[in-house]
Amino acid sequence: MKVMKMFEKRPDLNNSAEIFQPKNCSPDVIVNAGIHFLLAMYGAPKSEHSIDNYRYCSFAKLTRQSTAVKFSLLPPTSSAAPQYINRVYYQIQTWLGREIEPEQWGRELKNNILQPITTLLPPALDDLLNTIFCNCTKGCGGKCGCKKIGLRCSKVCGHCRGQSCLNAESTNDENDKDVDLNTEINPLDVLSATINEVETVDIDNK
Ligand SMILES: [Zn+2]
Ligand SMILES: [Zn+2]
Repeated sequence: MKVMKMFEKRPDLNNSAEIFQPKNCSPDVIVNAGIHFLLAMYGAPKSEHSIDNYRYCSFAKLTRQSTAVKFSLLPPTSSAAPQYINRVYYQIQTWLGREIEPEQWGRELKNNILQPITTLLPPALDDLLNTIFCNCTKGCGGKCGCKKIGLRCSKVCGHCRGQSCLNAESTNDENDKDVDLNTEINPLDVLSATINEVETVDIDNK
């Protein structure tokens, strides 16, 4: 398994992984260990400690390819990563039979449903976001430009105004009710999937 190989190559990662086991670990320590781990997962050199810097370098590297940059291949930002890492800690503690508050570990209660917090910052500056909009007339499905780049429609969209389409904030929250939280945060699945993707890119580069 690729995750195991990564541990063999980088014995320092064992220490980072162990930090997720004890109860009552300080969130700062967990986030630092998690970022150390994420950097390794995304193929960063050992000397790289800034996830934002590595995200930027990875983006720059991917723009040199002829295909469009897949954002899923970039490591998360320093605002998104702690939320993800907190959910991993929550999941591991749950596996170990310990009850901790999901709302202190990367989730929030929205419309009475626990939902993952993706990031604490907006996806981009307002000036930039206001230049991204669609003119869909049929409900903003798979062909909607906003949806394609992973943004919800907003008030600047031509027809839907971010209110009356499938890609509007409130409609999607309704659809998300059926999402099984356990499938979203199996850290090992996420690890292997990411490593597969990252390795595929490396092969393409050669
Ligand atoms: Zn739109
Ligand atoms: Zn729309």
